[in-house]
Amino acid sequence: MNTVKSYSGTCFCGAVELTVTGVPVAMGFCHCDSCRHWSAGPVNAFTLWKPDAVQVTRGAEHIGTFNKTPRSARQWCTKCGGHLMTGHPHWGLVDVYAAIIPEFPYRPAVHVNYQETKLRIADGLPKMKDVPAEMGGSGASLPE
Ligand SMILES: [Zn+2]
Ligand SMILES: [Zn+2]
Repeated sequence: MNTVKSYSGTCFCGAVELTVTGVPVAMGFCHCDSCRHWSAGPVNAFTLWKPDAVQVTRGAEHIGTFNKTPRSARQWCTKCGGHLMTGHPHWGLVDVYAAIIPEFPYRPAVHVNYQETKLRIADGLPKMKDVPAEMGGSGASLPE
């Protein structure tokens, strides 16, 4: 049975709509300073996808992009300011924020960049000091 599912979501005002298809590469929470500073929230709930699994289906002309570094292309809706996703070209992945795709069955499996946390979360999931070794990090774990 081939049951590839798609889930759509929108920015805060609805001008931008996107769809994700299939299964993400990874899901979890990022505690890094950049995610907190950009989102103005204590953690970022991420879902990482191959770029071809993410399609903007409406309002692409309203997407703004900011690159503080070449590693992260942060995107938002220029009409409402609502955040959408972050492209990570060095990984070949796109982080579609979990909050943007409410119907998607978000199942976080890991916390990353926990060394930078401002909000400890005792949920029993692994706490990576930075990111997994296969993504260029130390692969080290920290206590909750
Ligand atoms: Zn919007
Ligand atoms: Zn982060």
